[in-house]
Amino acid sequence: MTPERRDAFRALLQAEAQDLETAERDTADDRRPVELDQQSVGRLARMDAMQVQAMAAAQSRRRAGRLKRVKAALARFDEGEFGFCQGCGDEIAEKRLDLDPAIPLCVSCASR
Ligand SMILES: [Zn+2]
Repeated sequence: MTPERRDAFRALLQAEAQDLETAERDTADDRRPVELDQQSVGRLARMDAMQVQAMAAAQSRRRAGRLKRVKAALARFDEGEFGFCQGCGDEIAEKRLDLDPAIPLCVSCASR
C-alpha cells in the first residue's frame, strides 16, 4: 500500500469517527427517558415519544459499535498494523478496505 493510500484511509476513518461522535451528541435529547407522569401529554403522544426514544437508543448502540470498530482501525495505524489482517497477519486486499477501511480481517479469516 502506498503512503498516500494509507493516509487517505486514515483520513476517511478520522472523518467517520468525528461524524459518529457528532451524531451521538446531536441526538442526546431523543434518547432522554420519556416522562410518564406528564399530565399534559396524551397517551398516544407518550407512546410516540417512547418509540422515538427506543429507536434513538438502538441507533446509538449501533453507532457505538461502529465507533469502536473505527477507533480500533485508527489505533492500528499507530501500531503499524493497518491493512494487515488481525487474524492471520496477511495483507488485507485494498479493494476490501475500499469497501470499509475499518475492516479488521482478510476475506478468508472473515469467512472462517
Ligand atoms: Zn486473515
